[in-house]
Amino acid sequence: MKLLENKVALITGASRGIGEAIALKFAEQGAQIAFTYLSSEEKARMLEEKLMALGVKAKGYRSDAGDFKAAEQLCNEVAKEFTNIDICVNNAGISKDNLLLRLTPEQWDDVITANLKSVYNLTKQVIRPMMKARSGSIINLSSIVGMKGNGGQSAYAASKAGIIGFTKSIAQELGSRNIRCNAIAPGFIETDMTHFLKDGGAEKWFEKIPMGRFGTTEDVANTALYLASPLSTYVTGQVISVCGGMNM
Ligand code: NAP
Repeated sequence: MKLLENKVALITGASRGIGEAIALKFAEQGAQIAFTYLSSEEKARMLEEKLMALGVKAKGYRSDAGDFKAAEQLCNEVAKEFTNIDICVNNAGISKDNLLLRLTPEQWDDVITANLKSVYNLTKQVIRPMMKARSGSIINLSSIVGMKGNGGQSAYAASKAGIIGFTKSIAQELGSRNIRCNAIAPGFIETDMTHFLKDGGAEKWFEKIPMGRFGTTEDVANTALYLASPLSTYVTGQVISVCGGMNM
């Protein structure tokens, strides 16, 4: 028996990077996958095909996670098409890095909306079907930067720290309904989001990582699978760092 057999997972921002790896990992374990993207139409269609080739139902939706009304419409459509939502992965995110002296109000708002408001938007919608089913797992993508801060990333760090407070609060609100809410705090994972950092000299970064390598999207997807599956039925309100020891 696969770990997520008969489960439906909604994953935001799965056209690329960590979200895509989570979608594929969950599908390998039998989950039906509804996923979102913002602009990568072609990649989304390709992912749909890869997921269906794994033998599961899959559909990609173009939906801005930062838009409350769009999240409401998305969850209604997903609930209709897939009948239930058992797992929600709030993965969609952006970074717009700048020193505070130069950080514009627009940049601040963009990052907080895409990274933090999105988590509120989707979680508020998915808890209805989950409460009805008296079961659910919500997984939020925070970051090691939300725990430690990082110069030049104040908006990103604030959004990711906000996710941790939100996660712990929802875990307390909904634990008695058997709805779990946890966060993953990745370190430096090789994706489009971090690609530009590598140009600055990988060795400098390796020095900060006890395991001596960048993380892979699969490293994060494996942790998401644990949190989505029955292997973690008594785990809620936790932040699991996937950072090669970088947070010590
Ligand atoms: P990525 O490669 O840049 O991919 C981001 C994904 O989010 C894309 O699928 C993108 O869709 C989607 N997206 C962005 N804004 C969206 C919105 N408003 N509505 C819906 N979808 C949206 O990023 P990643 O590196 O995989 O990161 C995934 C998550 O992990 C993010 O929350 C990030 O902050 C977090 N994280 C990443 C790292 C890392 O080192 N990579 C470390 C810590 C935390 P399109 O393709 O359509 O643009």
